[in-house]
Amino acid sequence: MRVVLGVILGLVFSVNSWAKILPDNNLHLFDNYMLVNDPVKERQFNEIIDHIIEMWKPLAQANGATLVAEKRWNDPTVNAYAQQSGSTWKVTMFGGLFRRPEVTPDAFALVVCHELGHHFAGYAFYGHDDWASSEGQSDYWATQVCGRKIFEKTYSGNSKYRFNLNTGRMVPPYVQERCNATWKDSPSQDRCYRLAAAGLSLATLLGKLGSNPAPKFETPDQSRVSKTVPSHPKAQCRLDTYFYGALCPINLPDLRLIPGKGAPGGNNSIQAQRVAAEVSCMESKGFKIGQRPACWFGELKGDADAGFQWGWN
Ligand SMILES: [Zn+2]
Repeated sequence: MRVVLGVILGLVFSVNSWAKILPDNNLHLFDNYMLVNDPVKERQFNEIIDHIIEMWKPLAQANGATLVAEKRWNDPTVNAYAQQSGSTWKVTMFGGLFRRPEVTPDAFALVVCHELGHHFAGYAFYGHDDWASSEGQSDYWATQVCGRKIFEKTYSGNSKYRFNLNTGRMVPPYVQERCNATWKDSPSQDRCYRLAAAGLSLATLLGKLGSNPAPKFETPDQSRVSKTVPSHPKAQCRLDTYFYGALCPINLPDLRLIPGKGAPGGNNSIQAQRVAAEVSCMESKGFKIGQRPACWFGELKGDADAGFQWGWN
């Protein structure tokens, strides 16, 4: 039954469907209406979205698609969507998510990246024939590729995450140690701290939503799936994914690349995984840091195509 449902959802999904940052929720009931009328906040919301979308428009064009962003500032929905309809690739962003107290502007940028990730992140996908990258993969790409790009040259903003006179360290020593183990130059370390902080902000919201314990860098999810789970991981697992994406020392060499898409054996085949392994971190390539966390990602072994386990049933 699970497989049948998976196939049906997969078919619907591939034609014209959407992927979200969060499970459905009722947080819109708690929207801060004071902020709806704040023009400074509204401008910031629009600027963050526009800045990132403008960067990826030519990259979508190179893939034969038109990228569009729908900016729904007044809408209290605490979510964000990605959708494909023909050659139109869309992301929909809601003011309700931006106005959440847990969500910093950087975390909101990470959500834009996550939605773009559904379009661009490649393997692991939702299913063999689906256009959308899975939730975990979209999270991983948000820091390994997108966040890394948008904070590439924002040196002074990034350096604030190294030390702050008022609060001391902006990220725990644990984060700094691990970022420093991967990145040897100060600008790259600063950017790694900043991405980790953005990931924590977003994962904190996810934790509240799922009534999970507050996620922490120091307590990574120890669970190991046997097959990749494409649906939303738990908050701790998502924090681990954001952090590990920032820790992977490999840079995607060409931002137009959607790794594994259209691979001969299917989007989730071993062939697709091989392409992804060239441009990201995987355990089979010897990475013990910066790989997709095993709490959602089950690396395919050998030449077998193990298929996918559906998270919805
Ligand atoms: Zn999503």
